[in-house]
Amino acid sequence: MSIAAAVEVKGWCPGVLQPMQSGDGLIARVRPRGGAIGLTEAKALAEAAERFGNGHIDLTRRANLQLRGLSEASLKELQDAVSTLGLLDRDARTEAVRNIMVAPLAGIDPGEALDVRPLARALEKGLAEDVALHDLPSKFGFLVDGGGGISIAGERADVALRAVGKRIALGLDTRSGTEWIGWAAPETAVKAALAAARAFLGVRREQRRLRDVDDQDLARLRSALAPMLHAMEDDMPIASHRPLGVLSFGANRFAVGVAASFGRFEAHQLWNFATMSEEAGAADIRLSPWRSLYVEARDITSARQLVDVARDTGLIVDAEDPILRIDACPGAPACRSSSVDTRHDARLLATLKFKGNVHVSGCTKGCARSAPADLVLVGEHGRYKVIRNGTANDTPERTIAAEEAGALFDV
Ligand code: SF4
Repeated sequence: MSIAAAVEVKGWCPGVLQPMQSGDGLIARVRPRGGAIGLTEAKALAEAAERFGNGHIDLTRRANLQLRGLSEASLKELQDAVSTLGLLDRDARTEAVRNIMVAPLAGIDPGEALDVRPLARALEKGLAEDVALHDLPSKFGFLVDGGGGISIAGERADVALRAVGKRIALGLDTRSGTEWIGWAAPETAVKAALAAARAFLGVRREQRRLRDVDDQDLARLRSALAPMLHAMEDDMPIASHRPLGVLSFGANRFAVGVAASFGRFEAHQLWNFATMSEEAGAADIRLSPWRSLYVEARDITSARQLVDVARDTGLIVDAEDPILRIDACPGAPACRSSSVDTRHDARLLATLKFKGNVHVSGCTKGCARSAPADLVLVGEHGRYKVIRNGTANDTPERTIAAEEAGALFDV
């Protein structure tokens, strides 16, 4: 497929083989394998972002790295570089279907019931090998969670696998959230996850997500999977814990978590973080869907040193930083659909006192956040539509100028 044809595909998540056009050039999304990127690979990607793009690297809500500002000429060079790193898939369809989030502390947090990285790899392999599954809509995704304290099981994914003891629970995304429909041994659970995706293809008409199928079709899916699963015996409480800075798990295990405003890392920040993580004893960098990176550290001293260096390079190491409660898409001038500089305005809002969370979106597409936010500002003709307790697509109560946004917090 030519680049011109590739960038015209609507509703497609950009890959390295199939980029997406944006206001600042082509966007290429690099999907990690098993939720992690090796330190050498992270440094090479940072260098590639600088050399072939504009140096901006976004950590997406699906825990991928997105390089921006590429040209048609530099894209081929990026593809060659990503191929050398072993991160390139054999074709765009195989790349698009490899849509798997993995718990960022898998194999590091001793509190996890199981190291789920082999499950994630088996799922990746199954998706790559079953060509029929390459018809899945590009937004259809999976998550694999180890059952630890820093869990991704509360995130929305069409099919979820979560360790509960040595068993794996399987969840389906429905209109009311994840429905945990049964459990199986790890190997069977991977087969069941792939079977769920096949069953979705069997019942879907225009739907792009599992949550959009009707109750009758959802019942058909449950029945198709029932022979592979045992009934759930208990409810499964899911904690939402997203710490940053130094993380201590006991048993002499430590990790470090860092974030960047709106998930935007600059190439030099990623390169420095990977370099210093190596010195701290890390083997790789883990990506989370809440736009933070995690690495293991060999001891508390190394962890503290890494946090200090990360802070010095402008990364966020405090989970209470108010900017983490604001989601903002790139907006203008990076995105042609926006008439407002969302991130500039969001940074001004972050200096004010506010409660809850805020979503600043360049348009009604709401790329930065699909879940409702307490306050949503949606750009239109250089002003913002105001929505409370909703999404970027909901009905606004009024329209305001950007400089009036601060007053909304006093209401
Ligand atoms: S929400 Fe709209 S303006 Fe923002 S990045 Fe998406 S398409 Fe562009």
